[in-house]
Amino acid sequence: MSFAAQTKKELTAIVNEPCCALAELQALVELNGQVKVVDSRRTLDVETENVSTARRIYTELRKTVGVHPEVSVRKKMRLKKNNVYSVRLQHGVDTALSQLGLEVDDEGAIGLMKPVSEATCCRRAYLRGAFLAAGSVNDPGSNSYHLEMTVHSLGEATRLQELMAEYDLRPKVIPRKNGFVVYLKEGEKIVELLSVIGAHQALLRFEDIRILKGMRNQVNRLVNCETANMNKTISAAVRQLEVIQTIDERMGLHNLPDHLREVAEMRQQFPEANLKELCDRMDNKVTKSGLNHRLKKLEEIADNLRSAKA
Ligand SMILES: [Zn+2]
Repeated sequence: MSFAAQTKKELTAIVNEPCCALAELQALVELNGQVKVVDSRRTLDVETENVSTARRIYTELRKTVGVHPEVSVRKKMRLKKNNVYSVRLQHGVDTALSQLGLEVDDEGAIGLMKPVSEATCCRRAYLRGAFLAAGSVNDPGSNSYHLEMTVHSLGEATRLQELMAEYDLRPKVIPRKNGFVVYLKEGEKIVELLSVIGAHQALLRFEDIRILKGMRNQVNRLVNCETANMNKTISAAVRQLEVIQTIDERMGLHNLPDHLREVAEMRQQFPEANLKELCDRMDNKVTKSGLNHRLKKLEEIADNLRSAKA
């Protein structure tokens, strides 16, 4: 089960206060519902691809509004052949809509009659309903953090934006084919929204993975840093070996003063050692900076030899 599906399953198990049950259902029917006229009678269809959400709409319509819908399933015809669950109400449509504070326009689209309830609990419940109806969230282990809700109108998008702004979430809105997308991209904000709508298990899972990812990034940075240092050591050693070879070819290492010859031989013997390791090999008779100084001296000699011959 995807992270989004798990989150929705958790959300639909929340036991609502009656006021919040109405607010949640209001969002579900507003965002996923459509009113059609069949045989001169109004029919309400609320559709979703998520089975937990379908169950929630069905049970809440019965329990909270007191009507008797039917559920049907069909396969989506397009590429992803997901199931589409349809909760259909054929009797008492007008009563149900007015109880939920919803109205229908000429095209059968459903809208709020009044602003969302002022009560904090219900505003959260409305957001929860909106996420169930129109939301999806990337698995926190995937490459990018992303939570979005897709709605039909700019009015709906703006309302979601305003509700989320009350929790200092600043979602962006972009137009998409047939509607608008309200989305969050920062892990921290997604965690906050999951908390606001009551998805506490999902939130913990999200945070666990986010922390692990953070740690992995830190390890990668350290490894990269270490590799860079190692490369620096190796390229210095390669240059020193070239220097020593030049001296050996043009004047012979045996003609160097003892303290320089010793360093040159050590370097040849241990080409991969860093300065500290070379000092250890020389029983620390010389300090790191002393050794560095001698290596510089060898470079000077090689430079002189090269320019003398040129
Ligand atoms: Zn409430």
